[in-house]
Amino acid sequence: MSGDPALDLAATVGYRRTEPVDLLKGPADLERWVNACDGLPAEVAADLASFDAAVTLREAVYRLALARTRGDPFDPADVEVVNTTANGPALALELVDGGMRITGGIRAALAHVARGGITVLAAAPTPSAVSQSAAAPAPSSPPADSSSSNATPPAAPIKECARPDCTRLYLDRSRGARRTWCGMSECGNRVKAAAYRARRRAAG
Ligand SMILES: [Zn+2]
Repeated sequence: MSGDPALDLAATVGYRRTEPVDLLKGPADLERWVNACDGLPAEVAADLASFDAAVTLREAVYRLALARTRGDPFDPADVEVVNTTANGPALALELVDGGMRITGGIRAALAHVARGGITVLAAAPTPSAVSQSAAAPAPSSPPADSSSSNATPPAAPIKECARPDCTRLYLDRSRGARRTWCGMSECGNRVKAAAYRARRRAAG
């Protein structure tokens, strides 16, 4: 949903600044989350220690990603958590007829999530870099066909959902980075419906 497993993990807490809703209450919830996540093993067993490690990773990723949306410096303690977790065991990939089988324990799954988080956090531009590229004058030459262009697309910025109180972070891979909501069904449509009702009240 957020475009990255590490940000998806951070998004397992919603409404962080008002009334937090935590979807991971214990190891069983973590197991379900890992099993449902693309690129992670379909079956893992989590104990309390690995659950604590997952929550620690989640909160570190959240704070680092939030810092990136605001142009704030990274907290070294959070950087340490991500780097240490990423240094864990690797998942095993196996080619099978009709796809790929991904296996490994919960620590390998968390290490994989942390490594993905490193990739995203390292590449995400700061807000000032995003606004600069948005304000840059359009090229005078016609836009090159992206399939024949060698230019690498700019790294996707991390954004916070624009719905008040949602607080979810996501990777904006949309063209021109114009995405506003963490998800259209959950937040975009509700904000639009609320705005519509407000306009009707104002008109009537
Ligand atoms: Zn949202």
